[in-house]
Amino acid sequence: MDVWHHNFRLSTIMGPFTFTIFVLFLTTIFAKPFDKFESESAKPKESTCGYTSCHPTKPDVLNIHLVPHTHDDVGWLKTLDQYYYGSRTSTQRAGVQYILDSVIDELMKDPIRRFVYVESAFFDLWWSEQTDQRRHHVKRLVAEGRLEFAGGAWSMNDEASTHYQSILDQFTWGLRMLNDTFGECGRPKTGWQIDPFGHSREMTNLWALSGFDGLLLGRIDFQDKKKRLNSKDAEMIWRGSDDIGKPSDLFTGILFNNYAPPPGFCFDVLCNDDPIIDNVKSTEYNVDKMVQKFVDYAQNQASAYRTNNIIMTMGEDFFYQDASMWYKNLDKLIKHVNEKEPKVNVMYSTPSCYIKALYDSQQKWSTKQDDFFPYASDEHSYWTGYYTSRPTIKYYERKGNNFLQVCKQLYALTNLNEKDKVDLNMLRKAMGVMQHHDAVTGTEKQHVAQDYARMLNEGIQDCLITTKEALNKLMAENPDGKDKISTNDQRDNIKVSYIPMKLCQLNITECDITENSKQFVITVYNPLAHVITDYVRLPVSGTSYIVKNSEGNGITIQVMPISSQLLQQLPFRKSNATNELVFAADNIPPLGYKAFYIQEDNSHEKIFVDKTMPFVSNSQTKPLFKFSGTTKDEPTNDEDSIGNEFIKINIDKSSGLIENIIVTENGKSTTFPLTQQLLYYRGMNAASNATFNRPSGAYIFRPNTSEVVSIGKPENKIVKGPLVEELHQHFSNWSSQVIKVYKDQMYVEFEWLVGPIPIEDKVGKEVISRFTTDFKTENSFYTDSNGRQLIKRILNKRPTWDVQLDEPVAGNYYPITSMISIRDNSSQRELYVITDRAQGGTSLKDGQVDIMVHRRLLWDDYFGVGEALNETENGVGLVARGTHYLLISDSKKRVESRQIALQKLLQPAVFVSSADNLTFDAWNKNRNEFSGLHTELPGNVHILTLEPWKDHSILLRLEHFLTKTDDPDDLSKQAIVNLRILFSGIKIISYRETSLTANQWIEDFQRLDWQTADKMVDNFNDVYDGTYQAVNGSTTGDRDFPDKDKYSFFNSLSDNARNKLQDYLNLSFPDSSLNHVKSTIKRSVGDDDFLVYLQPMEIKTLIIKAEFSD
Ligand SMILES: [Zn+2]
Repeated sequence: MDVWHHNFRLSTIMGPFTFTIFVLFLTTIFAKPFDKFESESAKPKESTCGYTSCHPTKPDVLNIHLVPHTHDDVGWLKTLDQYYYGSRTSTQRAGVQYILDSVIDELMKDPIRRFVYVESAFFDLWWSEQTDQRRHHVKRLVAEGRLEFAGGAWSMNDEASTHYQSILDQFTWGLRMLNDTFGECGRPKTGWQIDPFGHSREMTNLWALSGFDGLLLGRIDFQDKKKRLNSKDAEMIWRGSDDIGKPSDLFTGILFNNYAPPPGFCFDVLCNDDPIIDNVKSTEYNVDKMVQKFVDYAQNQASAYRTNNIIMTMGEDFFYQDASMWYKNLDKLIKHVNEKEPKVNVMYSTPSCYIKALYDSQQKWSTKQDDFFPYASDEHSYWTGYYTSRPTIKYYERKGNNFLQVCKQLYALTNLNEKDKVDLNMLRKAMGVMQHHDAVTGTEKQHVAQDYARMLNEGIQDCLITTKEALNKLMAENPDGKDKISTNDQRDNIKVSYIPMKLCQLNITECDITENSKQFVITVYNPLAHVITDYVRLPVSGTSYIVKNSEGNGITIQVMPISSQLLQQLPFRKSNATNELVFAADNIPPLGYKAFYIQEDNSHEKIFVDKTMPFVSNSQTKPLFKFSGTTKDEPTNDEDSIGNEFIKINIDKSSGLIENIIVTENGKSTTFPLTQQLLYYRGMNAASNATFNRPSGAYIFRPNTSEVVSIGKPENKIVKGPLVEELHQHFSNWSSQVIKVYKDQMYVEFEWLVGPIPIEDKVGKEVISRFTTDFKTENSFYTDSNGRQLIKRILNKRPTWDVQLDEPVAGNYYPITSMISIRDNSSQRELYVITDRAQGGTSLKDGQVDIMVHRRLLWDDYFGVGEALNETENGVGLVARGTHYLLISDSKKRVESRQIALQKLLQPAVFVSSADNLTFDAWNKNRNEFSGLHTELPGNVHILTLEPWKDHSILLRLEHFLTKTDDPDDLSKQAIVNLRILFSGIKIISYRETSLTANQWIEDFQRLDWQTADKMVDNFNDVYDGTYQAVNGSTTGDRDFPDKDKYSFFNSLSDNARNKLQDYLNLSFPDSSLNHVKSTIKRSVGDDDFLVYLQPMEIKTLIIKAEFSD
């Protein structure tokens, strides 16, 4: 019998199926059961993969697990393709295709041999080039546990600059490929993060919830590692989330020698060590010497660990291109050591076999609840520069995620015709590659960074085709959703217009269509599950416009001059625009769009002269501020402040900087002394790789003193209108800023524009934005973990050891994925800065927040990249532009900060189309407003994933995005979502829950249950202070949510939230045949399986079968 037919595959969810529990489930709930479910077992009967395939260990001797592996970066010194095919050998002798070819040949020769492979991007490429026979052989190796996958994501992602949404996506994609190809035997059980430069807590949470049994790490801080090896704490139970508790616990081990083999035992074609020569007649015979050396090393290593098992990583970067050299020597090493040393048992092993051996030892392990940031490899090498390196790549990566979600959602929502579908996979793969620890990190060579941008751009262009077709399909439907149009003939009959949508480079204020057309159409798609209002800014060449919504009403606009700084600092923009048109795209429906028709119009214009600050020395040309359309609000005339109804920012006339911010909430005004400025550090220049000589580079942040340099006093200009008030600050010819306060917004935007950073003085520079307040913060601050939970940081301190900091600035930098915060506990005041990309940040003084925005350096930092981080464009230093969103209050703003972060992560996609040949009336025959959701979701729930899955199924992830402590009395309670009435055009017929990464049914989800030697604390942030000891506190983990009946909504923090909830629960699906659902909703928890309950920070992953209403 061919074992492969019995592999368990999630791809066959819609196939015939006789799994007992599920059938019961189906027949009780669904009107008609699936007609095509096939008989499948969780694992092929004949296979021996998994823990049963491990070579046996022995009691009372030292078991040495030799793990042959290769570390294959999906781009670093060479591009992904260059690494795969092995070109550019002068840069690095590395070809992944040869590695896999060679390893498979060697594994086939002897069943005792083992190998672990990790990077699915490479494996997938290799697999696509293999013959059926070869594939059959590889499947056998996997089924027998001889070839094991660890990690298994598309790439080995970085953990500092990556967002959890993208981490999950790339895990889902890589693990899906393994599941499709190998079934259950292809499911990795062990995380394998051997090269990333520090490790995040949220990542641990994700590993645990994805079903991994353990995690092995290569790099942690050198002081931490020394202490852990001394106290035998290099292996531990790490809790990923205090909200999730025990289910987020993960066994975590720190590898002894990073991921390299013991010195003298590197048998690779790229190494210089001697082979093992066991011919006794040879003058080169060396077995006795080699065995002794090996055993000495092993015993030394074993003395630092708790059990009689140790792991040796027999590999390095791109090793095993000639695998026979390795296996020939490892075979001999195993044979001779086992013969000569009775106290040692050396064997081929894998990461999961090693972890299982530790589990079987019944050991109790120490615990950890913080994270492994920042990473330092010696006293002057803090890997905190890469948090900010290559700021434009980091931004592009985040925008790539934004558009991938838009594309996946629209794909899933519209049930496109086959011919209209373009592969989503290009962007899925590109985003997977971008998460790699030498991609989004900015630690790759320049030509590799360009190749990443190329990949991402191609993926976005592919997805644009899908989104354009999907939106046009929706637009061709009548507002009531009837009379679907699927052919061009039908389209012509009712004269619906096809809207040819494009994306513009709005990040550099450049857009061909809006600049050159007298009339154009804007379609704004909202990927959030909540109604939002967002301000659209378009570069234009006219001075007055009429913006109409689908009701034909003109809406308030503001036209303002493009800042002269932008023109000066970005001379290479291909743009004729002189002005920016601003309007509010208000109440954009959840997972929906609104379209706007825009015409240039000079019939009723109103002109304001901008307010220029008195201390401006060289007044620019007189820019005009104009607006037209309807407005009730007149701009204020205050010349030294900007603001709106909630916020007033006062500017200090002598310094030109912000003096304070007055915030008005609930009729009460509070003045916050606050100032902000752009400053820079001078990077260390050095000409050797000696520790004391370490330069600042792509990885390392090392300023040459702790002193920051002021860029200068700004020249200021104020621009005010009905929608936004702005302070334009010009610090120098390479640094400027626009501070904006939009109408109705509770936060302030700081749009910084930095570059080209000058290097004429031969000194690299690292530019920061510093916010200074009078908050008493007791040396503490908070940074987010991959865009999710906040982790408390204390200046000059680490939670688990007494740190000796020789780099007082760099050693206090932490990764910010989306947010940094300070709190004044005595006055309940809070400040948040939300970022638009990953950056590094710190708080070096009480009440202060620093965020590094850009860096340009002249020396390589001697960690392999071989280039200085000196990015240029058109021959001059790279210019970066970005935004910080500041939220400040004298009350808790945890919910609002997370909501803003979510809105900035998943911004509306703005599609632009020329309407030169399209009248308003013709355009308005289209459906110009649409919501993919029947109603918006509760205010604490987020649609994390909505994407086409397999066989017409859809993958849906619902997330409660607040922690238990964010809003304990209200939104931090359990949330509820009714799947029956979730979507407007899709009827969910059935669904089935999976593990977080969708490669295991939830009922099959089972992990090793480890024992801890000490108890976890309830909440790390609450107990971490100046006196915190790593091991203390009380037991925790049990959830307690006494009040399950109290919920609220995203945009309804007001009193009517409860009423809305009631409306929501009373809603019935438009299809009357499903009206019985209404009554079941009111039954208690568990009675209605279409209600999904979510606890704080919980993510539920569902594969759903749906019917489209057409
Ligand atoms: Zn690497």
